Amino acid sequence: MRILLSNDDGFRAPGLEALHQALQEVATVKVVAPEHNNSAKSNSLTLTAPLYVQQAANGFTYVNGTPADCVHIALTGMLAEHELPDLVVSGINNGANMGDDTIYSGTVGAAMEGYLFGVPAVAFSLVDKGWAHLDAAAKRCAELVRSLMPLTHGQAHTAPWLLNVNLPNRPYTELGALQWTRLGRRHAAQRVMTQDNPRGETMYWIGAAGEARDATPGTDFHATAQGQVSITPLQVDLTDHDRLPYWRALLPPTESPR
Ligand code: MN
Repeated sequence: MRILLSNDDGFRAPGLEALHQALQEVATVKVVAPEHNNSAKSNSLTLTAPLYVQQAANGFTYVNGTPADCVHIALTGMLAEHELPDLVVSGINNGANMGDDTIYSGTVGAAMEGYLFGVPAVAFSLVDKGWAHLDAAAKRCAELVRSLMPLTHGQAHTAPWLLNVNLPNRPYTELGALQWTRLGRRHAAQRVMTQDNPRGETMYWIGAAGEARDATPGTDFHATAQGQVSITPLQVDLTDHDRLPYWRALLPPTESPR
């Protein structure tokens, strides 16, 4: 099996290194990751500047772009046909990607880019920042990838899938069971912070993410708070299917002008 591994924290991030190490025993792993931290870049693509691909001394490939750029260029020409992955893996991220985070997450964005190109994909995040118990998380991630192998491309072909995994920072023996979850919800983010720069101009800093609002049983927030490993299947269709009939009734289609 071939894995394309990326992240959003950049190619020097400990989470990428640890996951690469752990996945070595499962598959052939190619790393294509952003040069710099691209957290919260979602699925952003760089359309207004050229992208450059470079090799780090440790063999990782890095790109002066976003997580989605990395996966996009890898899948659309950078990799040779025989190098194309059976699975796209992203992470391990420094911090949770649960609930509303998934909309903003570059970690999820990298995985989603693979999914959009028809490759099964999984995003991994450590709930608390600071890399505590990273090796335990990487080991669990690799075990999960191994169990997903029969569901990837080269094997029994299924429609592509996209999974979002969040692991609590715990020693390996204290990591709970895998729990299938739905995304919880967060409160709106905290207020923007302002500071003056040395020239007296106001700088704005985006505030921290909101606290969990829906962390009820069944959610990713709840599972990780119990010490379990949360796994949520994601989809990309943003259509509000439930309210489509409501809108149709409210604003009936008009005759198209001829
Ligand atoms: Mn990140």
